[in-house]
Amino acid sequence: MRKFTIVGGGQSGLMVAIGLLKAGHQVRVVQNRTAEEIGAGKVLSSQCMFSNAVQHERDLGLDFWSDTCPPVEGINFIVPNPDGSGTKVIDWAGRLDRPAYAVDQRVKMPRWLAEFQRLGGQLVIKDAGIAELETYAREDDLVIVASGKGEIGQMFARDAARSAYDKPMRALALTYVTGMTPREPHSAVEFNLIPGVGEYFVFPSLTTSGPCEIMVLEGIPGGPMDCWGDVKTPEAHLAKSLDILRTFLPWEYERSKDCQLTDDNGILAGRFAPTIRHPIGTLPSGRKVLGLGDAVCLNDPITGQGSNNAAKAAAVYLDAILAHGERPYDAAFMQATFERFWDYAQWVVRWTNMLLQPPPPFVLEIMGTACAVPALAHRMANAFDDPRDFFPWFADPEAAGAYLADLRQAA
Ligand SMILES: Cc1cc2nc3c(=O)[nH]c(=O)nc-3n(C[C@H](O)[C@H](O)[C@H](O)COP(=O)(O)OP(=O)(O)OC[C@H]3O[C@@H](n4cnc5c(N)ncnc54)[C@H](O)[C@@H]3O)c2cc1C
Repeated sequence: MRKFTIVGGGQSGLMVAIGLLKAGHQVRVVQNRTAEEIGAGKVLSSQCMFSNAVQHERDLGLDFWSDTCPPVEGINFIVPNPDGSGTKVIDWAGRLDRPAYAVDQRVKMPRWLAEFQRLGGQLVIKDAGIAELETYAREDDLVIVASGKGEIGQMFARDAARSAYDKPMRALALTYVTGMTPREPHSAVEFNLIPGVGEYFVFPSLTTSGPCEIMVLEGIPGGPMDCWGDVKTPEAHLAKSLDILRTFLPWEYERSKDCQLTDDNGILAGRFAPTIRHPIGTLPSGRKVLGLGDAVCLNDPITGQGSNNAAKAAAVYLDAILAHGERPYDAAFMQATFERFWDYAQWVVRWTNMLLQPPPPFVLEIMGTACAVPALAHRMANAFDDPRDFFPWFADPEAAGAYLADLRQAA
């Protein structure tokens, strides 16, 4: 039996913690908010998770919601006509081969914290700082920092070569609602790209009070969707969300105009810079800790990949830790483990960062072609589950041209 401490009881930290417990190890999770505080607090994310990531949860016995959470069954990509006529210039939908699920983290994390304790894990409620990390690193075989966007993550140096941006690329907002007209003929992430303004996506979820829909609003800084600064109440937040839909996306307004907030905490507004960090943190004593999840690989939510990445990173780390046997978890192990994850994550990061820029003409051509070629729409929808499938053709005009020519020939 080996001893582990994980700072941060969120998506990635709890998956690794529970996996290590199940393998017979001694695990301490240090978490700065109690289950009750998380459950009664503000929403944290929109957390839509595709099938491969959900499977990792299932493998650990942590999928408690597939039978109660409304499934997300497809991706519908829409670009409104810039002439303001209220029509769509691009509109394609692809069915997911296996459903995605968006379980409110206010539901998920309290349940997972209880499961961790039921399995014999030690839960410490504390806002860990460097002094605490020193203690844990002295006592245990490995300390993992999975603190999400928490400040402690800044102990990991920014990796300038892997970080495309040094400032927030979107003003973000979430609005959890009930009473939206369901999408026909199947549920989907309805992803609307409003050129020069931002993005709006919406999909079903399970929140603390039952099924709901999550509106995600991504405004280009300085534009008309960067508008949350003077919104002071939950009612004003909902009104502002609907105002944006009425102005830019009349079909979405039509579905949503009678919506109610799920609860006063079903709202969020903020912004952050997408940042990749070096995965090894060195403490004043010289001891090392390993970063996991958003702490070291933080993406803009535009592609809905953060929780997916966190779950996939957890699976890679768990596998590497268990395969390492009795050997020390030294810097070489830490770097190699992160690089194994990065083999996958680099493609997610690249694709996500691309979508934060205005789409180049060849991407618009891909999106336009998908309206007429269902095989392309199907491929793009399912690539949300494994974004490596977007490459090279979504990133390179020549590869795109060749692929589209093949598709047209086959059609
Ligand atoms: C607006 C928005 C929309 C999103 N939509 C999606 C989506 O649709 N799909 C998707 O896959 N992802 C989405 N994400 C991202 C996703 O929520 C995160 O990527 C994911 O939760 C990261 O998991 P994690 O384990 O790294 O950190 P988290 O799940 O954030 O967990 C970190 C935990 O550490 C705790 N903590 C922090 N500091 C300390 C400390 N010093 N001591 C102790 N505990 C500490 C925190 O309280 C928290 O509980 C979205 C994010 C945002 C902001």
